[in-house]
Amino acid sequence: MGENQPAVLTGLVLVFVACFVAMPVWLRVVLLAFALVMIFTVAFIAVGIEQKAGYYECQGCGHRYVPTYWQTNLAPHAGRTRYMRCPECGKRTWQRKVLTKED
Ligand SMILES: [Zn+2]
Repeated sequence: MGENQPAVLTGLVLVFVACFVAMPVWLRVVLLAFALVMIFTVAFIAVGIEQKAGYYECQGCGHRYVPTYWQTNLAPHAGRTRYMRCPECGKRTWQRKVLTKED
């Protein structure tokens, strides 16, 4: 989630400000809520959308599938390929992202 980090950092800065800078309680609560929503939206939902948009193609057998949320997030990735285990043949390969299930 490299490109999402600035938004997460901004959220963390807001949490820091809300905790350590003197301000009315209601403003603290608003800032914290805003920061948490921002962090969760970016860190979880954005990655979830990325994971759902398309399939990964196994380099071993050509099988195309949608990996699970955690499989996608925990797999090492380089550009649009991810190193994952194919559910069809069981091989671990660098799997290319494709947009459709068929050719
Ligand atoms: Zn395969």
